[in-house]
Amino acid sequence: MRIATLGIHHETNTFASNLTTLEVFQRSGLQTYGVQRGSEYIEMQRNAQTSLAGFLQAADELDFELVPLIFAATDPAGTITSEAFESLTGEALEMLREQGPFDGVLLNQMGAAVSEDFPDMDGELARRVREAVGPDVPVAMTLDLHANISQQMADQTDALVVYRTNPHVDAVPRAIEAARLVQEMARTGKRLHKWLEQPPMVIGIFQHDTREEPMKSIIDDLESVLERPGVASASVGQGYPWADVDENRLAIYVLHDDSETEARETAVWIAERAWRHRHELNVPLGPSPIEAVEQALATPEGDGPVVLLDVGDNIGAGSSGDSTFLLAEAMRRSVGSWLQTIRDPEAASACFDAGEGARVELEVGGKSDSLHGKPVRITGTVAKLSDGRFEDSGTVHAGWRYFDGGPTAAVETDAGPTVVLVSTRVGNMSREQFYSLGYRPEEFNIVVAKGVVSPRPAYQPIARRMISVNSPGATSGDMSHFEYKRIRRPIFPLDPAARYEPKPPSGT
Ligand SMILES: [Zn+2]
Repeated sequence: MRIATLGIHHETNTFASNLTTLEVFQRSGLQTYGVQRGSEYIEMQRNAQTSLAGFLQAADELDFELVPLIFAATDPAGTITSEAFESLTGEALEMLREQGPFDGVLLNQMGAAVSEDFPDMDGELARRVREAVGPDVPVAMTLDLHANISQQMADQTDALVVYRTNPHVDAVPRAIEAARLVQEMARTGKRLHKWLEQPPMVIGIFQHDTREEPMKSIIDDLESVLERPGVASASVGQGYPWADVDENRLAIYVLHDDSETEARETAVWIAERAWRHRHELNVPLGPSPIEAVEQALATPEGDGPVVLLDVGDNIGAGSSGDSTFLLAEAMRRSVGSWLQTIRDPEAASACFDAGEGARVELEVGGKSDSLHGKPVRITGTVAKLSDGRFEDSGTVHAGWRYFDGGPTAAVETDAGPTVVLVSTRVGNMSREQFYSLGYRPEEFNIVVAKGVVSPRPAYQPIARRMISVNSPGATSGDMSHFEYKRIRRPIFPLDPAARYEPKPPSGT
């Protein structure tokens, strides 16, 4: 049995101003994957904790041939250009036709991709793949928990399988589940009954951690229905709040052996229980940047740093990485033991010109747009220069392994803070980012991590306290900061009076 896999993996922040072009896909970035084809794709990911690694494991265990075609992934950022989408999809479909026929297809998607022509890019890709392979070849799609799941994605595939954890640490078992479903459908020729239910609500970004209530209850409900007879698979999509698309909302998806009615009833049961939590699932949490620094400084001494999560500058959700609201306060208060990154290629380059050990005076950060604060003046010593590449084979959010911050310079400022100037929008998902420069975040009093959940696997184990900071920026936790035009209305919390009526059974 031969099963193909391909993917165009992107989380698109439609409020971010930077377009995601073909060139952006081709160069290495936060995830340093670029565009991989054939066996190169396997080499890159065999030992990672990614969906592809799960497909490979499934191929070994379930004894089928996995044929990797193409995988394109790049950092979360603005809308994908039509050229990038058409070029990558065109190549994928050509490979599918030329290297086929296949007994099944595994689509390796993030699920919140938006292109200039297709707000539901993942659904459009699935539609074209279905058109290419015909109705009889089973197609499954694996998805990140932040997917915005559309009816088209459900209609054009035979199975959707979504991560169940955030931080995402279960890409491998979910990929194995998807592969198992495709193999079984290919073997028997049978299809499962599917249902997608979408209560009109989004989940506030501060409530996305699946280990904490009330999100934990939704996942517990999901896991409980898997015990019911006939439920073959079930998934929840949390949604990705910064995509202005029709299908941006909570999604519940169920596959049932016996009937659509039972798939629907199961999905509606989860959806109705989630709907009751809508208020607790939309609480903007956390202190302002100024209050957060105050709280961090007032935290009793102990092992490890206080970690400030810079929510408004969530690089992993498409933000610029150069927000200065926290740094400005640290500089104003001359905080002595403080470690953070700021994306500023210009300032990093000035440090390279000056050389290690040189004195510098720089304006850093706050340069990409008007959302992320003003540049901050720093004076200090260039303590370390590096190419910004580092690798982490441990448990990292979504299994990413290779990172590339571009030319990187650590500046130890006279005021106190240590500022690591990076050149790309590399996230703060791995402590190796600092170890590779000779710094141990464990030994600092305060460390800033830009993000909400993705830094947690790296920083929770060493932090004496984590503080989610309600900072401004392109990924602010407050949806009312943004102007939505395409999202289906009414929707909670933008429309507080929104009501939920389960979708009627098909054929009614
Ligand atoms: Zn995610």
